[in-house]
Amino acid sequence: MNKHLSLSLILAVFAGMTFFSCQSDPQQAATDAAPQLDSAFLVQTVAELSSDTYQGRMPFSEGERRTLAYLQSQMQAIGLQPGNGESYFQAVPMVEITGVAAPLMQVKGHGKTLDFELGEEYVAQSPQVKENISIEDAELVFCGFGIHAPEYGWNDFEGIDMKGKIAVVMVNDPGYGTTDSTFFKGNTMTYYGRWTYKFEEAARQGAAGVLVIHEAGAAGYPWFVVKRSGSGARLYLESEDNNASLCAMQGWISTPAVKELLAAAGHEPDAVFAQAKAKGFKALPLGMNASTSIQNSLKHDVSQNVAGLIRGSEQPDEYIIYCGHWDHMGIAAPVDGDSIYNGALDNASGTSTVLTLAKAFVNAPAKPKRSILFLLVTAEEQGLLGSAYYAQHPIYPTKQTVAALNMDGMNILGAMKDITITGYGQSELETMAEEIGKTQGRYVLPDQEPEKGFYFRSDHFNFAKVGIPAINAKGGYDHLEKGREYAMQKKKDYTYSHYHRPSDEFRPDEWDFAGMFQDMELYYLLGSQLANSNKWPSWKEGSEFKAARVADGR
Ligand SMILES: [Zn+2]
Repeated sequence: MNKHLSLSLILAVFAGMTFFSCQSDPQQAATDAAPQLDSAFLVQTVAELSSDTYQGRMPFSEGERRTLAYLQSQMQAIGLQPGNGESYFQAVPMVEITGVAAPLMQVKGHGKTLDFELGEEYVAQSPQVKENISIEDAELVFCGFGIHAPEYGWNDFEGIDMKGKIAVVMVNDPGYGTTDSTFFKGNTMTYYGRWTYKFEEAARQGAAGVLVIHEAGAAGYPWFVVKRSGSGARLYLESEDNNASLCAMQGWISTPAVKELLAAAGHEPDAVFAQAKAKGFKALPLGMNASTSIQNSLKHDVSQNVAGLIRGSEQPDEYIIYCGHWDHMGIAAPVDGDSIYNGALDNASGTSTVLTLAKAFVNAPAKPKRSILFLLVTAEEQGLLGSAYYAQHPIYPTKQTVAALNMDGMNILGAMKDITITGYGQSELETMAEEIGKTQGRYVLPDQEPEKGFYFRSDHFNFAKVGIPAINAKGGYDHLEKGREYAMQKKKDYTYSHYHRPSDEFRPDEWDFAGMFQDMELYYLLGSQLANSNKWPSWKEGSEFKAARVADGR
């Protein structure tokens, strides 16, 4: 079948489709009035953004220029106000750093010298915006998991001054591999388990460097993933101090290398790892000093977040954010003769859903009481940078922001019985989503792979970090007609064949939009309830993000 023919077929089918609304509660009926979700517009927008014209939507490319022009024109056509003063854009200054570490990291102490080989035993990069980074005789300190978590009464840095030293830390958190869900979150990874957290905490402690000990099970990926990430160009946000407040060296060390290191320092490695998992563990200065260097080449450039606004009719200074990343991976290594990474699912689908939701709110009979920001962020694929920039430089104050609803890769497998909530157990938004889901005949599933820390791997996380309750929810594990096994297999197939590959393309004859519409309706109703109430949904007890919200006075 010809692509155009099948696309128009789909449009014809969905043009006639109407969405039911939940009218069970008459109080709610006014705010939940049947959403005007334009399914044909959604399908057309996905087709457009994932076409080769946009060249895979890579920041700093011609593809970016075309994408930004298109997104702005769509926001104008929909009737959104500019989201940032007079502009639909928020500039996101970034620096591309290509770092090459020395072939060997040399460690001396206790009369011994150890040489660790780059790529095989250690990898290191520097986020600092300068060309020559030198680590000379920096003392290595084994700091357990490298975690300071007041809500769990846990501090691996208690009583130790890390200035000028290198923290050697374990990946994941102490709850990993346990069944006690109150010890951290048991096998569910908390943010304290992510390597990004460990880099940040070591910097807060004033360390010169940080090396995360790689262990495939606890990390969730093998050493070659670490090795690959340790070389090549990487984007960082620009900052006033040129990232001098971050560790000069951020890297990984292999388990065999660290065992060698601990043994040379006179310790029994497995006993040390076991101690680190128990409460009351004290950091262990190893009496060994490391030296290495990193040569950085630097390139500065600016990308853009795209923002459109509907101003609220009664509480205009309170905001709901719908977000999704517009960027993908551009033109890169060809696979089967195709070099354009179209990113149809990831994330033309989410971007288009944000625009379709915007259109529905603009065309709704009544304006929302609170303001709604439709935010399409850049450089998610480069480390969630656009959303990180927004969180650090919010256009509207974080304490005035009620919630963030993120969309990254919509469900293209068809209608589902489930709503799977990433990082389940975080905030009251989940309860709201669950209630709305019931009216659709759906039930909530918690994160199906909680040990992998998916909550920390898309843009909602950056809002969570500054305290804004944030949710990422979609159907995906229990197909309405074909059940769980079918859904699971289809998801696996997609990840294996298309995820981050040029073949993540729009296939109108294969995609089943019913699930995407289901989730879009859920998000519409959730946003509508939030935008028409005085409620401030909060983080649940034990959430690692609650403290930031409380500090904001919420
Ligand atoms: Zn994505």
